[in-house]
Amino acid sequence: MSLLMPTVYFSSGFIISFLFPRLPIILVTRGKGFNTSFPEHPDPIPLSPKLTQRVLHMRMIYWMGFVVATIPLLFGLASIKWGNAAFGFGLWISSGWYILSRLQTFVGGQKPPWTLGMAQRLQVVMDDAKSEAKCCDNPLPQWDIMAVSCTTCSKVLDAMPRPDLGRKRLDGFFLGTTRLLLSDGYPIISSDEDKRSEVDDSEE
Ligand SMILES: [Zn+2]
Repeated sequence: MSLLMPTVYFSSGFIISFLFPRLPIILVTRGKGFNTSFPEHPDPIPLSPKLTQRVLHMRMIYWMGFVVATIPLLFGLASIKWGNAAFGFGLWISSGWYILSRLQTFVGGQKPPWTLGMAQRLQVVMDDAKSEAKCCDNPLPQWDIMAVSCTTCSKVLDAMPRPDLGRKRLDGFFLGTTRLLLSDGYPIISSDEDKRSEVDDSEE
């Protein structure tokens, strides 16, 4: 047997299990009904309990991908043992890599794009807007690409870049999906908008 077929099998296994655990984030959240309460991508989103809830949903779906990734992992192992070894190896390598990279979170690696802390910070900004600490008389906090800021007085209330929030992306399904696969949902600092200049770094 030539080397071509095993390579094709390996690649297809690899690609399938690369996409598989990422499907929930790509498909589940882009639906129309899922996004009626938010402005269209990439407009800023006003802070609301709905937005906080969305961050928590994205977080849940993110960790769901972790569970989903065990499916191609097990299929890969089965395929190595009883089926096409190259295909199984592709499946196995890709989903194993996915799981390992997610596990890094627990040993001090990069945090997930959506965290509980993020939802809490949004809540703090919302609480502040109603308290004595508010930035101006009529605070309207909104989450833009680079930070949470007030629509009325444009004060930056929390320098937290905005991750993907499951809205249908402006750049269409294929480009949007590609971008999402490359960024894995993390805030895209260097592209999208022109106001990146004043931002030094994404603090996790
Ligand atoms: Zn204000």
